[in-house]
Amino acid sequence: MSTAELFRDDSYLQSCSATVTGVDQGTIYVDQTVFYPLGGGQPGDTGSISWDGGSAKIADARYGDGGDIAHMVEDAAALPPAGASVELTLDWERRYRHMRMHTAMHLLGSILRYDVTGGNISSEKSRLDFNMEDTVDKEAVALALTALVRANHAVSCRWISEAELDANPQLVRTMSVQPPRGRGAIRLLEIQDVDLQPCGGTHVNATSEVGRVRIGKVEKKGRQNRRVNIHLDD
Ligand SMILES: [Zn+2]
Repeated sequence: MSTAELFRDDSYLQSCSATVTGVDQGTIYVDQTVFYPLGGGQPGDTGSISWDGGSAKIADARYGDGGDIAHMVEDAAALPPAGASVELTLDWERRYRHMRMHTAMHLLGSILRYDVTGGNISSEKSRLDFNMEDTVDKEAVALALTALVRANHAVSCRWISEAELDANPQLVRTMSVQPPRGRGAIRLLEIQDVDLQPCGGTHVNATSEVGRVRIGKVEKKGRQNRRVNIHLDD
């Protein structure tokens, strides 16, 4: 049985209780978690874990073997016993910035309607790489981005089956980033009237929460690649 991913249905959960299902060389496995594991350009969550008689800092979260989420502790000597009841708590400030950034990336992708060839999110700075030869009009993009944030579009997720997606390819605006297959269902992220695409990351519930976002450097990475950097200004 793989780890239940509570953040998939509620990205605002900051903590949860869980039961330790295994420990292994500085890594803790639990039956359910609020920790997002590194993936899709979004970093793994950090935070803490506590149990009767101890606590530890969690420095990273990643998918381990078999689809379980591995919580990596900072100090490998401090581990709870298997079967222990624990409380998991996120570094919420950092994660919430990832949610704002991640949502901003979707907005940016809806403005620059080119194929996305790469991307990376951090709490300070994020980037998206576009397959495009045109010059990016920074000012126009910044204005469009601010307008989408101010318009406060609702952001939501829903699940569809792989068969349903195959039968209705028009459900998804861009398939340049292929959704992960083989887990039975695909998660669609919808920004109302703006964007609809497969995404497993964590997002805010409404675009106004993205807040003060600024377009940074636009880099030319080869003839057909433009890298757009964005920053959160608070
Ligand atoms: Zn996303």
